Amino acid sequence: MPNRTWTGAVAASARGGSAAFGGWLRTPSGVLVWRSAERVGDVTLRQAVDRGMSALLRVGLAHRASGPEVAVWPAAPLRYGRALLQRVEDAEALALAESVLPPPPEFAVAGLEKVEPGHYVAHGTRDYQVWPLLGVCSCPAFTYEASRPCKHLKAALEIERRAG
Ligand SMILES: [Zn+2]
Repeated sequence: MPNRTWTGAVAASARGGSAAFGGWLRTPSGVLVWRSAERVGDVTLRQAVDRGMSALLRVGLAHRASGPEVAVWPAAPLRYGRALLQRVEDAEALALAESVLPPPPEFAVAGLEKVEPGHYVAHGTRDYQVWPLLGVCSCPAFTYEASRPCKHLKAALEIERRAG
């Protein structure tokens, strides 16, 4: 007897006054039919999870998925139709939610200014040129190989990665 169970996940995260959900839904044979992340503004994690579950169930209904098993994190609503909810952290859904949030504070390096795509200037006691896509920075730490990548490159790379 083939597996008939649809599986999915919804996770919420929040940072810098904004919450976001991420989620995915797969058919019983493992085909991904939905993968999404959306920033939903200044709401609670529970509300962000609600938004994600609504989106997942809309897709599930459209595909006639009955009673999908959904990993929900961190807040599991009491019930969502016939979906079987498990309060389990799903790394993929969480990463999706994280991907649309502002960068975490450690990457908000003071004075890192984007001057054009792939080119930043790190303003400090002296200014340094940062080219994350080339993996090059003009600061002493990078130039003299004390630290490669240097903190400027790490920050610029993270900003580029989050910008998609
Ligand atoms: Zn540097």
